[in-house]
Amino acid sequence: MIGKDTYLKQRGLMLEALEKAGITISPGEKDRILVLDFGLGDIDHIGLQVLVYVNTPKLTVKYLAVAPGQTCGEHMHVVDDKGEGKEETFRCLKGRIYLYIDGEPTLSPQCQPPEGYEKYFTARREIVLNAGEHYTLEAGRRHWFRAGPQGAVIAEYATAGDDSTDVFTDPRTTDYGVHHYDI
Ligand code: ZN
Repeated sequence: MIGKDTYLKQRGLMLEALEKAGITISPGEKDRILVLDFGLGDIDHIGLQVLVYVNTPKLTVKYLAVAPGQTCGEHMHVVDDKGEGKEETFRCLKGRIYLYIDGEPTLSPQCQPPEGYEKYFTARREIVLNAGEHYTLEAGRRHWFRAGPQGAVIAEYATAGDDSTDVFTDPRTTDYGVHHYDI
């Protein structure tokens, strides 16, 4: 559970990161920033800040702010009986993202999983995204990411709005740990 002080601190980090990236959001959106710790209570290492600004049955668009040292836990988007699943595109708007996906392991990766969580991070193919670059992931591939030393602001485009079916490698991820406070 994220306390209000932590929420406000992380929200402040996102507002600052968006401003530095030259991204304007509305006052209402500022109040809808979400802080995710995936239920693990370790926001400085496993977590990120999110603003969902489009959410329809067909399309979800978010800004993500990842602070230096934060990692988004490894997960995958399930493929249903019809072979359909959430496709996700990450576009780096500011800073740098280190994205790790299933596949041939990169020999000398630039990041390691966060300390103490190694066994819950299995994807080892590294994709580096600098500002202005993006990558699209099909459903069914495990992935995780972290930011470079300056942090990162990311635009995420996904084909379905339901995150609740995402499968996290760390079984302790009991919920998204999404917390919002009316301020
Ligand atoms: Zn994902």
